[in-house]
Amino acid sequence: MSKYPKLFIPGPTHVPEDIMDALSTPQIGHRTQEISELIKSIVIDIKEVLYTTNNIYLISHAATGLWEMSLKNSARRGVLHCVNGAFSAKWVKVSESCGYSYDVIEYEWGKGVKVDDVDKMLSKGKYDVLAMVHNETSTGVMSNLDDIADLLKSKYPDILWIVDAVSSMAGVKIELDKLGIDFILSSTQKAWGLPAGFSICAVSDRMLDISKTINNKGYFFDLEVYEKYFSKFQTPSTPSIPHLFGLREVLDIIKKEGFDNRWKRHKEMRDYVIRWANSKGQSLFSEKGCHSHTITCIENTQNWDIDEIYNTLLEKGYRMDRGYGNLRGKAFRIPHMGNIYMEDLKDYINQIEGIINV
Ligand code: PLP
Repeated sequence: MSKYPKLFIPGPTHVPEDIMDALSTPQIGHRTQEISELIKSIVIDIKEVLYTTNNIYLISHAATGLWEMSLKNSARRGVLHCVNGAFSAKWVKVSESCGYSYDVIEYEWGKGVKVDDVDKMLSKGKYDVLAMVHNETSTGVMSNLDDIADLLKSKYPDILWIVDAVSSMAGVKIELDKLGIDFILSSTQKAWGLPAGFSICAVSDRMLDISKTINNKGYFFDLEVYEKYFSKFQTPSTPSIPHLFGLREVLDIIKKEGFDNRWKRHKEMRDYVIRWANSKGQSLFSEKGCHSHTITCIENTQNWDIDEIYNTLLEKGYRMDRGYGNLRGKAFRIPHMGNIYMEDLKDYINQIEGIINV
């Protein structure tokens, strides 16, 4: 057994040794031909993962920084936030602390974002930015992006759409150009299956143009600065070079698996967990139609002793999730993303079975 338990928490997710090995590739200079070639190859492949020609930036900090970056380069008159869990609520705090004018559409936890609510609020004409979390990691809710895309295209083409895909990007098919998302963000410790502390975003040209009209964005989060360096396939400051080698490795794995196979596999793992939960008399915390492909949040209707399961799993070498914040013990989450494959999932569920059947 490894010194540390295998992670079955929804981030950081499990990273096997062969991927960790890629992160210990010897360092290279960050103003060299070598790094430009590495970054270029990563950018080309991420564009394929996201079905986009938008600008890809790789950034050496957690996704929380990209919440701020997305707002600093888009917010002018007002931001409309959709809040349906812990992370979408935290994003609002960024608007608040930056002093932006904003409003919130608030949902009960477990619910997805609804297009009619967004329409009703946008029709007031007060906003130029719509911010939402695609996959609420706290509740296992994945909201429908297609409906929102259709609404924005047909009625609000000038709204900049910024989307947090921290726990869905690289695990769920997101056709960026078709959807018309202006800024999508993720960090590497979830479906990308790498250690934390590194982020990815894709930015539309029109958002870059709007960014140029905004003053006092600071330096670190200014998209103009990123664009200047990425046109040479470099980063504005010294990047986390281990993460770049890690991303290269993961992208090779993703390409080998094939995109469609990857998206299908995540759905199959989701269905497997749902079938298992239902067979045990448990229910799902996420509402029908919004069950995430990368993480399942199970409502503990059977009143299992989650702490006991947690402690026993830990003795066996697995780190369980006991539920986010106030949901602890009431709804627990099973991640199926990153380097968790069907055999890992089946093994984990068998371990839980062994404990609850005693
Ligand atoms: N958004 C979502 C949906 C998340 O699940 C998380 C982290 O769990 C974050 C944002 C914050 O990511 P980071 O810790 O990389 O800043």
